[in-house]
Amino acid sequence: MAATTAPKRILVIEDNEKNRKLFELIVRSMGYKCLLAVDGEEGIRIAAEAIPDLILMDIQLPHMDGVTAFRHLQQGEGTKGIPVAAVTSFAMKGDRERLLAQGFSDYLAKPIDVDELRRVIGRLLEESRHGE
Ligand code: MN
Repeated sequence: MAATTAPKRILVIEDNEKNRKLFELIVRSMGYKCLLAVDGEEGIRIAAEAIPDLILMDIQLPHMDGVTAFRHLQQGEGTKGIPVAAVTSFAMKGDRERLLAQGFSDYLAKPIDVDELRRVIGRLLEESRHGE
């Protein structure tokens, strides 16, 4: 018999408390475990320690922006294969293409559309499972 499957873990890197709580609520409502980080440095540290199944990365972060934090993750042996979805509050034409070209697995614009967030999480976790 297969061992009991542990719940997938999603790391949310987001400096805005309200958004962090919203992400956490949605992630937990889907039955996944939610890890939280308030900035890029903390996110990189938690990602390296926990190796989550998926990361939701706010792009507008203090100290280190989300694109820079993502580059650090891509250079980490344990973290480079983790799918990372970019979340941005200044949705401008071309954002999506630019972020996907930089290697992000998907893109979400704030204000967060809950249904779209659920779809993106479901899709990326499904893809990562196929990679196992
Ligand atoms: Mn932010």
